[in-house]
Amino acid sequence: MNFEKLEEIMKTEPAYRWKQAKKAIFKDLITDWNEATALPKILREKFLREVPLRIESEILSSKDKRSVKACIKLRDGLSVEAVLMKHTDRRNTVCVSSQVGCPLGCLFCVTGKMGFKRNLTASEIARQVLFFARYVKKQDEKVTNIVFMGMGEPFLNWVEVKKAIEIINDDNYFGIGARKISVSTAGIIEGIEKLARDFPQINLAISLHAPDDALRGELMPVNKKYPLSKILKAVDEYIEKTNRKVMFEYVMLRGVNDSEFQARELAKLLKYPLYMVNLIAYNPNGRFEPTPEEKIKKFKAILEAAGIFTTQRYRFGTDIEAACGQLAARKSH
Ligand code: SAH
Ligand code: SF4
Repeated sequence: MNFEKLEEIMKTEPAYRWKQAKKAIFKDLITDWNEATALPKILREKFLREVPLRIESEILSSKDKRSVKACIKLRDGLSVEAVLMKHTDRRNTVCVSSQVGCPLGCLFCVTGKMGFKRNLTASEIARQVLFFARYVKKQDEKVTNIVFMGMGEPFLNWVEVKKAIEIINDDNYFGIGARKISVSTAGIIEGIEKLARDFPQINLAISLHAPDDALRGELMPVNKKYPLSKILKAVDEYIEKTNRKVMFEYVMLRGVNDSEFQARELAKLLKYPLYMVNLIAYNPNGRFEPTPEEKIKKFKAILEAAGIFTTQRYRFGTDIEAACGQLAARKSH
């Protein structure tokens, strides 16, 4: 499914045809052009040849059926992973990838370990949403939320990510509200500025993971270029422009960033009322150990006592290696 190519073909067709085609793809979620009966046969045949609707993929479902991972094959043989998280209240969140691999090499992240292969196109990003929109339609449900927390750093591929967000947000396409879309970054400050300018309603999440530059620099090499002070300054400017809350993600690594002292340091750093913290259970992938549940609770209590709104992320899909940081394209896909 190549949206750019479809757009190109539709340039020579009347506007109402484009509308019909979009309705067929994004609302009716057809998987075969022959189902698009509103379109003339000759156009359907052209589409069948030039913009097939099939999305080649392999899926894995977790035991509790609450998360589903799709490895979606790209034209050049690489594959990219997207994850569906089914919440109990019928919310369906799709976690999308923005790059194949990632150049930032955070030590705790599998995607970082595999290195950087290439940027995804807007079409390849939107296709991940389309795949799961079709999937949940079979259960009479809709994709309600999007998070850019799959493989890659979205702000290092902003041109394509921006186009993809437009497709996700536009009522003629997926029509998912801006407030239901979140972008997570390792702290690329130019990206934070662009998000405030281009999509002031979209949620921003910052991967923080340490309360000081020394430790953060060890865990996330990108901290050398974008240290904490610069990131927090960019976040404050973002809040000034958008008046939106900002989520700080903090993956709990046993004996590394989870001490009570570090909780207090973090509390001092994040004292602004519109800051929130999301504590993430580490999904083991060799290098570190996860913090025990009890200790996460203690860490959370310290932040809360300091007046910081703190959540603990439910762990989705560890049994299918779909949890964040475990997304890595493997040869077998
Ligand atoms: N590159 C962006 C977005 C993708 S990573 C970023 O880093 O924010 C999405 C989230 O998964 C980040 O918060 C990241 O720190 C977290 N993550 C990476 N590896 C993880 C692991 N092994 N266990 C739990 N979370 C992890
Ligand atoms: Fe890249 Fe994010 Fe993984 Fe770091 S955590 S390597 S920025 S995908």
